[in-house]
Order: sequence, then C-alpha cells, then structure tokens
Amino acid sequence: MGTVFRIVLYARSATQAQSAAEAAFNRVDQLNQVMSDYIPDSELNQLSVTAGTGKKVKLSPDLWQILQISQEVAQKTEGAFDITVGPLVQLWRRSRRKQQLPSPEALAKAKAATGYQHLILNKQHKTAQLLVPNMQLDLGAIGKGYAVDEAMEVLRQNRIKIALIDGGGNIRVSKAPPATKGWEIDLSIGNETNYIGGKQIYLKHGGVATSGDLYQFVELNGQRYSHIINPFTGLGLTDQRLVTIIAKNGTDADWLSTALSVLPIEQSIELANHTPKAAAAIVNNVSSTIKQHQSRRFQLLKWVK
Ligand code: ADP
Ligand code: MG
Ligand code: MG
Repeated sequence: MGTVFRIVLYARSATQAQSAAEAAFNRVDQLNQVMSDYIPDSELNQLSVTAGTGKKVKLSPDLWQILQISQEVAQKTEGAFDITVGPLVQLWRRSRRKQQLPSPEALAKAKAATGYQHLILNKQHKTAQLLVPNMQLDLGAIGKGYAVDEAMEVLRQNRIKIALIDGGGNIRVSKAPPATKGWEIDLSIGNETNYIGGKQIYLKHGGVATSGDLYQFVELNGQRYSHIINPFTGLGLTDQRLVTIIAKNGTDADWLSTALSVLPIEQSIELANHTPKAAAAIVNNVSSTIKQHQSRRFQLLKWVK
C-alpha cells in the first residue's frame, strides 16, 4: 500500500505479542495482494483488466466487502468519492512526473473510463462487472482504513484486546492502555498556512484519519493540485483543505477523509453529522483566508490539551 504499518499492543508475554503482531502484518500483506493497483496480478488488477469485455468476475470476500462499501459511499456522495477514478489517478501521476497538465484529449479519454455507475456489483453471486473499456479501480482512498480494521480483527482473534494500528496515518485503536483514559492521539496537523494546533484526545475505540494536500500535490502553471481528484472535473483538487476525521473504525475514517475533501463544505459537514459516531473538522484555505468547519460531534469532543 506504499506506506508503513505500525502496531502497538499489550500482551501477556513477548511470545504472544510477537505471534499476534506477525499474524496481523500477514493479514495486511494478504490485503495488499487483493487491493494493490501496483501489483500486476493483484485481485483488483485482475478485475480491472476485464473492463469492457462483458465478463462478470467472482470476488473474494474481502474485495466484495470493500467494493460494496465503496459503491455505497459513491452513491451517498453522488460520485464525489469514486473508486473508478483509476484512469484519472494514473493521468495525474504522469502529470506530476512530467510537470505538465494533461492534454484535453487525454483527460477526456480518462474521464470516459471513469464513473461508479459503470461498476456493477451482483449481491447474489458476489460478482463485479466493469461496463466500459479501460476502467481501472483504485482503492487508495479506503484500502488502508479497511486494512487497519482487519488487522485489528486478527489481533482480537489472537486474544489481544489493547492495541493501536497505524497504516500510513490511518489509525485504529482498541481499548485504553492500562491506567489511561485511552490512546492519546495528537490531531495537530498543518503547515505554515493551515493549522489545527495543540489538540489531543483520548480515544478508546475507533478510527482516525486525515486527508489533505499537505504532502502530496503537484504545482503546474502556478496552480497547486491535490492527489485527490474531483471526479466531476477530472482534475486534482485545487481547494486547499485539511480534513480530520474520528469515526467508529478505520474504514469510515478513511473514506470520510477523502469524501469530505471533495464535497462542498456544507455537504461535507452534513455527511459527517449523518454518519454514526463520526466527527469531522475541515480547515479550508480560500484565497489565503483560513476557515475552520466542524461537525456536531467534533464540537463536543473533550480535548486533553
Ligand atoms: P492518502 O493518500 O493519504 O491515503 P486519501 O485517503 O484521501 O489519502 O486517498 C487518496 C487516494 O485515493 C489517491 O491517491 C487516489 O489513489 C484515490 N483517489 C483520488 N481521488 C479520489 C476520489 N475522488 N474518490 C476516491 N478515491 C480517490
Ligand atoms: Mg481516505
Ligand atoms: Mg487514505
């Protein structure tokens, strides 16, 4: 998944800690083999190459589950979150390397191969079909969140109750460490222009994630573009935002952080307010004026510092 996974856990013995952690890391490796868009024969890529052929592909339980969630989110966000953005993501990676905006023709071609309506899931047979040629699925906005949840499930099966798993900033925690109120999570994120400072919470159960163009962006013709794509324009986001999410698990935190980067602010806050157990803060930098927006549950959070 192009990132580092870190596990912190409490166990009865070093042996138990070692074997549980190993099992959890193995689960992450297994999921990488399913969801990667880099590994040529990943299950995801084996599905993507059938685009436009009329084939219906039987899915593993993991891929079924994650595609099912992704499509629900795509519907809920009316396509702001869309895992069929693969062709546009590829195009943007190339733009970044070449330091050049894509041509209108290349953009039109990639857009034609994008759209969650062209991904058909069959609930009864657990199959997927990609209706349009050159479609490419991309789970970059939800896969790491799903992986930290599944790794936590493996720890639980290995009788580990107290743990923190961090997959490239997608955090999932379970139970408070001994003699604490919870895992202390630092939500201070920001750079010189965008900043949520000095905010810490104790979290016992749930997931945390952030999205933003702080680290991954490309600057072309004086305009800064994010690696998160607006599926409606086909281009990287230009609206500078930092989104911080606390949710019931890592999967929700991950997809929410991306969806709330794309949706208009009002809809973003509304979606956070309507997602069970979710809290969201958005820092938005519009023409050098920084504005903070918080969902209802975020305003009610008790801060440590
Ligand atoms: P991170 O890269 O830190 O995990 P996100 O969770 O926001 O950040 O995921 C961004 C990734 O999701 C992109 O690199 C790309 O692979 C994919 N992506 C980009 N735009 C969208 C979108 N509108 N909907 C779904 N996935 C997207
Ligand atoms: Mg995400
Ligand atoms: Mg992510």
